[in-house]
Amino acid sequence: MKNVVLLGSTGSIGTSTLKVVEDMPEELRLVGLAAGNNSDLLCEQALRHHPEAVSLQDPGAAQALASRLPGIAVRSGPEGLLKLATLPSADIVLIAIVGTAGLAPALAAIRAGKDIAVASKEILVMAGQIVMTEARRHGVRVLAVDSEHSAIFQCLDGKPTGSVRRLILTASGGPFRTTPKSEFPGISVAMALKHPSWVMGRKITIDSATLFNKGLEMIEARWLFDIEMGRVDVVVHPQSIVHSLVEYVDGSMIAQLSTPDMCLPIQYALCYPERRSSDRVQTQLARLGTLTFEEPDTDRFPSLGLARRAGDVGGTLPAVFNAANEVAVEAFVSGALSFPGIFDHVTRVMDRHRVIEQPTLEQILEADRDARQGTPG
Ligand code: NDP
Repeated sequence: MKNVVLLGSTGSIGTSTLKVVEDMPEELRLVGLAAGNNSDLLCEQALRHHPEAVSLQDPGAAQALASRLPGIAVRSGPEGLLKLATLPSADIVLIAIVGTAGLAPALAAIRAGKDIAVASKEILVMAGQIVMTEARRHGVRVLAVDSEHSAIFQCLDGKPTGSVRRLILTASGGPFRTTPKSEFPGISVAMALKHPSWVMGRKITIDSATLFNKGLEMIEARWLFDIEMGRVDVVVHPQSIVHSLVEYVDGSMIAQLSTPDMCLPIQYALCYPERRSSDRVQTQLARLGTLTFEEPDTDRFPSLGLARRAGDVGGTLPAVFNAANEVAVEAFVSGALSFPGIFDHVTRVMDRHRVIEQPTLEQILEADRDARQGTPG
C-alpha cells in the first residue's frame, strides 16, 4: 500500500488521479488532498477518501470547509501545501497544481524524503537543476506524469543517456496544425480551447495550441533525463498514439503507444517500479489504421525555438520563458492579446532579461516575478 498526497485534486490531472486510486484500493491510499478554490469538490473528494488532511488556497474558505469535514485536518495557503507535502505518512506526493505554486511543496517533499510525481511542468522548467540535485541528495525519485515523459521513462527503462542519440517528444500539433500563419491574428479563445486529442485544464490547452506546451516539455525532459537540449527533439504526430520515443546510438527507436488517457501515466508513476494491471486503456492498432509524423513548423510556432534557446542558455531564462508565457496566456484569454501576440510577448520579455547563470532558488523566483511585470500587448 502506497500513501499518496495529491496537490491539485480538483483539476484535470487531479480528478484522473482519483480515478486511478479508486481503481486500485489495495495498492493506493490518499492521505492528503489540496485544491485551489473548488471547496465543494474537495469536500466531496475528502468525504469519499477520508484523507488525514486537506488544504484550500483561501484561509476563510478552509475555515468554512473544516466544519464539513470532522476528523480531517483542514489547512490553507502556501503553508497548507507545505504541510501536506511533508505529511509523515506520505510515500509519494503528486503535484498537479497549475503554475508555480507547486515548486516550494515539491522541494519540501523531496527534503522530507518523499518521492514526487510531477505533472506541473513549471517545477522542472523553472528549477530543474535544483530539484534534480536535491532529489539525488535525498535519494528520492522524481517521476514523470506528463504522458510524453512517462513514455520516454518507460522506453529508457534505466538505460544511461550515454546510449541515447535523441529523445523525441511527440506533439499533436494542436488545433492550428494546418492553419496558415496569415489566419493566426483571427484565432479566438474558443478556437484555441478545442484540443484535437486531449481534454485538459485551460492553461495547458492554450499552451498546446501555441506549442509552448511542447517547449516547456523539451526543457522538462532536459532536466528529468539529464540530457542536453541539442538531443531533445520534437515530431508532430496528430493521432497522439505514440506518446514519445527514444532513439538509441545504434539507430534503434523505442516508442510507447496507447490511446490517449492520462490515467495510464498517472498509474505508472504512482505504482512505479511495479507495473500494475488495468483495463482502462485498450488500444486497437488495426482500427487506428494510420499513424503519421511530420516536422514541426518553427516559423508558425516560434515557441519551439524560444524553448530551445531558454533550455540551451539555462540559468534564469527558462523561468522567464515560463512566466512570460503564463502572463501572455492570461492576457490572450482575457482578450487583451492576440494569438500571435503570445509569441511576441514572450520573445520581448526573454530578450530584455539579463540571465543569471547557476541561480539560487531566490534568484529564480525573482526572475519569475520580474518577467511578470508590465502589460503585454
Ligand atoms: P487544471 O487547471 O485542470 O487544475 C489545476 C489544479 O490546481 C486545480 O485542482 C486547482 O484547484 C489547483 N490549484 C491552482 N492553484 C492552486 C494553489 N495555489 N494551491 C492549491 N491548488 C491550486 O490543470 P491540469 O490538471 O490540466 O494541469 C495541472 C498541471 O499538470 C499543469 O502544470 C499542467 O501543465 C500539467 N499537466 C496536465 C496535463 C493534463 O492532461 N491536464 C498533462 C500533463 C501535464 P481549483 O480548481 O480548486 O481552483
